[in-house]
Amino acid sequence: MSHWGFPKPRLERGMEPWRPNPRNPMDRIYPKTFCFNFRNLLYANGRKLCYLCFQVEREDDFSYNDSDRGVFRNKVHPWARCHAEQCFLSWFRDQYPYRDEYYNVTWFVSWSPCPTCAEEVVEFLEEYRNLTLSIFTSRLYYFGDPNYQEGLCTLRDAGVQLDIMSYDDFKHCWDNFVYNKGMRFQRWNLLKDYDFLAAELQEILRNPMDRIDPYTFHFHFPNLLYANGRKLCYLCFQVEREDDFSYNDSDRGVFRNKVRTPCPPPRALSGRSRVRGQ
Ligand SMILES: [Zn+2]
Repeated sequence: MSHWGFPKPRLERGMEPWRPNPRNPMDRIYPKTFCFNFRNLLYANGRKLCYLCFQVEREDDFSYNDSDRGVFRNKVHPWARCHAEQCFLSWFRDQYPYRDEYYNVTWFVSWSPCPTCAEEVVEFLEEYRNLTLSIFTSRLYYFGDPNYQEGLCTLRDAGVQLDIMSYDDFKHCWDNFVYNKGMRFQRWNLLKDYDFLAAELQEILRNPMDRIDPYTFHFHFPNLLYANGRKLCYLCFQVEREDDFSYNDSDRGVFRNKVRTPCPPPRALSGRSRVRGQ
């Protein structure tokens, strides 16, 4: 029996024993766990767990250190269910209470977010207006389900950069989130269905956004000679027919450029405390 009085759960493949503190991330994961759970597959049987490798960079100096990265995994235990994304959001709110600083957050996830997590991420981004989030996913969760597709579009509309994990992303994860024991990254057939998944995601996100929110507009559209932190380009369009100069809702929308921000350089150790703001 655990000290909470619940019976011990049966451990599934790749699952570590449950820890009472849901907030602390793991430092790294084992190579087998990484290769099994992060493989680009269109259909992936037996992979019930979702891993989320994250790194948080402060915009002021583009620096990060060991305390600003880690790995979360979804909690699947009956009394402590929590998706990996929710674990991160809870941890981040605790670690980074300052909402006026600029943060670049990158996630590498084995499964794309579900609609519930997508909604929670959008609420989180409304709390942290100075935060940009990039999500690189290995696989698309229920990609044929319109609700899941809508969740991804909701994230995109909230300014999240979404893409399928590429070779560079796998290598970056291997170097920074895996106990690699000095072994160099190899492809190991990890990118098996990359082309299919990239095309599928492109199709899901193909249509333009209807509108952008006021904050996005006010941040990205001012006439500025020098505009720091504005890597994205928004294009609002409308199409009018020449014959009667009329147009309707279907003839207007907003596109945003697709940017792949380069992965940060290899780890730069510094003395920054793990627990900030305390
Ligand atoms: Zn979820």
